[in-house]
Formats: sequence, C-alpha cells, structure tokens
Amino acid sequence: MTKYIDGHRSSQVGIYVHIPFCRRRCTYCDFNTYAGLLSLEDAYVAAIVSEARMRSERAISARARTLYFGGGTPSLLAIESIDSIVETVRREFGLPWEAEVTLEANPGTLTPAHLDGLRGAGITRLSLGVQSSHSAELLMLGRIHTWGEAVESYRAARVAGFDNISLDLMYALPGQTLGQWCETVGRCLELGPEHLSLYALTLEPGTPLAETLALGEVPSPDPDLAADMYEVASEMLHEAGFWQYEISNWARGDNPAPAVWALPPDGKTENISSHVSVHNLIYWRNEPWLGLGAGAHSWFRERRWSNLPHPQTYINAMRSGHLQGYSEAPVSRVTLSGETMMMGLRLAEGITDGRLYEMLGQHLGDLYGGVIDRLAEHRLIGWDGERVRLTERGRLLGNLVFQEFLGTEE
Ligand code: SF4
Repeated sequence: MTKYIDGHRSSQVGIYVHIPFCRRRCTYCDFNTYAGLLSLEDAYVAAIVSEARMRSERAISARARTLYFGGGTPSLLAIESIDSIVETVRREFGLPWEAEVTLEANPGTLTPAHLDGLRGAGITRLSLGVQSSHSAELLMLGRIHTWGEAVESYRAARVAGFDNISLDLMYALPGQTLGQWCETVGRCLELGPEHLSLYALTLEPGTPLAETLALGEVPSPDPDLAADMYEVASEMLHEAGFWQYEISNWARGDNPAPAVWALPPDGKTENISSHVSVHNLIYWRNEPWLGLGAGAHSWFRERRWSNLPHPQTYINAMRSGHLQGYSEAPVSRVTLSGETMMMGLRLAEGITDGRLYEMLGQHLGDLYGGVIDRLAEHRLIGWDGERVRLTERGRLLGNLVFQEFLGTEE
C-alpha cells in the first residue's frame, strides 16, 4: 500500500540512492565510495530499505517523481538488490510506473543477462561512465574498462531494450590534445546516444592523480585548452542535433536547436526532447529531493541533511532505527535564493521572475536588480524583465557569474 503519512500536502521529490561500492578507485576520485566492500551488499540494501520505510513513516509525505541510482558503481549490485530498492521506493514513495529510473553503470560491469535484469527491475535510463575512447587516458584515470568494452556495453544495452542512454565523458585531462578529445566526442556521437554529459576533470587534492601531477609525472591541464575543448565539443554536438540544456549536459532534440546555447521552446527544458534528465532537472531547479544511503544528501522542507558516510556505520545506524544524520541544518533565505540562482543559471532556460516569486515570495529585480544590471552590461547574462539566463559568452564564464549571486541578496 502506498503511504503519504504526515497529513500535510504531499511533496514531489526526486529520490537519490547512493551505492558506495567500486571495484577499484579511479585515480581522480574523491567521491564517497569504497573498493573491497561489496561483501556488505545485502546488509547495505537492507539498510536502504529500512531508511526508506523510516523516512516515509516518521518524517514526511513525499511522493517520488524520479529515482536515480548513483555512486560508486550501482551496476555492481545484483539484480535482486536493485529490484528490492525499486520496489521499496514504489511502495513507500509512490514512484509511478512510468517514472524515469536512472542507473549509473560502468562499462566492464555489464553483461547481456545483467542488462536484461536491469530492464526487468524497472531501470529506464542508463548513464554510462565512458570518460574517454583512448586507452592511455583510461589507464591514467584508473578506469576498469577499455573503449572496446564501453562500445560492447552500449550495444548490449540497446539489445536489452534501453532507449535512453547517456554517455559521460571527461576532458581537460593531463596531456590530452584537442584532437584526441574531438576523436572521443566523434566516436561517441557515432554510437548514437540520446544524451551526453561532458565534465572537465577536477584535480581534487589527495587523489593519486593530483599527487602524480604534483610530482611532475604528468603535465598540468591548460585552462585555455580546456575552454577550447568545451567550445569545439559544443559545436560538434549542436551540429549532431543535440540541445545544450545545461552547462555540462546535452540531449538529442526533437527539432534542431537554433543556436549552440538556445532558449528551449516556451522556455521549458522539457520541451527540448524526452531525453533530458528529469531527475537532474530537480537539482538544477532547486526542487526537493531525498537521498537514501551512506553519505547521501537531502533537501526537503527548507532543511538539508546528509547521512553517515561510511557504509558500515550507516548500516549500524539503520539497524538500530536511528535516522540521525551526519549533518542537518535549516537553510537561510539568503542561501536559498543564492543557490537557486546559481543552480538555475546553469540551465539554458535560466530562471524566471515568476518561479523565484513562487519559491521565495520576492521578485528577481528586488533581490538582485543591481547584480543583474552589472552582469548584463558585461554581456554575461540576458534579462528581459521576466527571465534571466546566461548568454553564450556567460556560459563560458559561469563560475564568475554564479559567485555574484552567493550571499549578495540586496
Ligand atoms: S567508478 Fe566513479 S565512483 Fe567509482 S572510483 Fe571511479 S570515479 Fe569514483
């Protein structure tokens, strides 16, 4: 039986499930993920099921719009585990049968039988961590797969019936040339995915790759070259029929985009195509989400919290029926408005005055009139009195724009 418990109006949320297991750590990774802990799988899945029950019973009346398995490497889980989590989210949070259910998968962990099982368990969208089509780059990144295995996994996913596949790629790698990057983008386009995410490598302190770089064993990525890589890939994707709907994300459009960075039809990202990530749109629009699992973050009813990060500690807490988190705090209005601007401006649709007023009861011009005028003078944002959005130039300098909105409510 589906439950909406606390008697308040039910809220639509995205549900994120964190799977903190990897076969081995990539050299650049600083996510909350662990190699060698897969023996905890059954206990961990039981803990997620308990957390979902406790949250739905004790805390909130949330109704799920989407479900997203992230990690880590969710594709390492047995089909029974995925099945049990999907079923729990349907039961406890009323996830509709037609909802988007994404699973992050690593090539090298997928077999045809596993892919069939994933389809059967209700996964509708795969996000494949391909990263590069060059063996030397994959080796440097410590990935567990080759380009050949990525292609094999992609084709097997098609045979299994997946019709919504996103490929994740990384650029600005140490030693990577513009030519190598274009080859990777071109080879991925030849596969015909519905969606692409392109992220510049961030060298997090303390990771093996950052240390190798500090020792001078690999060259530092050049920021100008990284900007060129981004621009060239944007052009290639535009020509191939993709709409850029977010700074790092592209979906194959129903109709060609009129420009590299175009306002979606009627100003709504959903109108670009059925392949935009509905779950990630929830984050960018700063709408509520619940995170289940070790270290997962949640944002609901103006509070933000995160769970205990280590899988075993998290399992112990759920066994003893404790929902207390690693951190929990209300979010101030200044933070809320600043983050809403920062996240919303990542989208090509930008933010409208109407939406901000609905969220905060204040008008865009009253909150940020001076900042908006200044950024518009520098041609970094466009503002027509109702909608504010990054210009094509502004999207290349997004971080400069975002910081103007943080903590600067007028
Ligand atoms: S697969 Fe992803 S989560 Fe796992 S170690 Fe590599 S980058 Fe980190």
